[in-house]
Amino acid sequence: MTSPRKRDSLEADVVVASGDEGLAEQQQEKYLATHADRTIRTILLLVAMEAEAMPMVQSLGLSADDPAVIPPPAPCHSFSGEHAGAQVHLVCFGKCKATGVDNVGTVPAALTAYLAIQAFKPNIVISTGTAGGFRSRGASIADIFVSTAMVNHDRRIPIPGFDKYGVGAFDAVPTPHLQQALGLKAGVVTSGNSLDYTAEDMARMVEHEAAVKEMEAAAVAWSADLFGCPVFCLKSVTDIVDGDRPAQEEFLENLHKAAEALQHTVPRVVEFIAGRRLSEL
Ligand code: SAH
Repeated sequence: MTSPRKRDSLEADVVVASGDEGLAEQQQEKYLATHADRTIRTILLLVAMEAEAMPMVQSLGLSADDPAVIPPPAPCHSFSGEHAGAQVHLVCFGKCKATGVDNVGTVPAALTAYLAIQAFKPNIVISTGTAGGFRSRGASIADIFVSTAMVNHDRRIPIPGFDKYGVGAFDAVPTPHLQQALGLKAGVVTSGNSLDYTAEDMARMVEHEAAVKEMEAAAVAWSADLFGCPVFCLKSVTDIVDGDRPAQEEFLENLHKAAEALQHTVPRVVEFIAGRRLSEL
């Protein structure tokens, strides 16, 4: 089920690759028809796992919000500060009460995104963290991908209308200048609630031309869309989806390396987007 929104986003990939300024402008014009072209002064970063979040908290110079801005029983934790003249907030999803591990996946992602957007009123949301990358789309370990669109690969509802709802595709803010300035790869981010995948999931991911696979982006995009808040993802590759090793093995081996890449690149992205308008990204 290829939605028109997603197809347009895929065209944006080609735009950047070929340096076709005219098409890039068309993409931005289309996005700005539904989003106000505001100057970016407040940036919200959403991160599932503490191990991914803390290196970024450190490199951005953020401090834990005390007292909590998003109070319990919400399990998330927020950090705030100023970076490159922008107000920056980073919210990680906190720990599972029952097991003590990080709250990963779409349920905590949608909840955290909703509460954090309500609390911090950002001009832009960035869903960041780790992901599996598709070698067939040029991914290598510790590469950072910028999203062109966000979709779900595990919501199969073969009933008219609900089929499209299940895919839940949203365009990301077009970022051709950011991609070029920082030399970042770009592609579709696909979300599901498993670290592994079924044959059906894989068929969907191939159909949507996914470049990276993770567990939160499409849910963050859904919540951001409720607020009309622009969103894109920065995902660092821990494992190769179309490779020959189990994701969990590669994930644990490369988590540190991927988190370091985010620690270095996310501040550069914040510096690039701070004070710019959406149309200048
Ligand atoms: N085994 C890990 C659990 C991580 S869950 C641990 O014990 O630390 C996976 C997290 O990494 C999710 O937040 C997800 O978004 C991301 N992720 C990385 N690679 C992924 C992949 N191949 N598929 C799905 N999610 C992935």
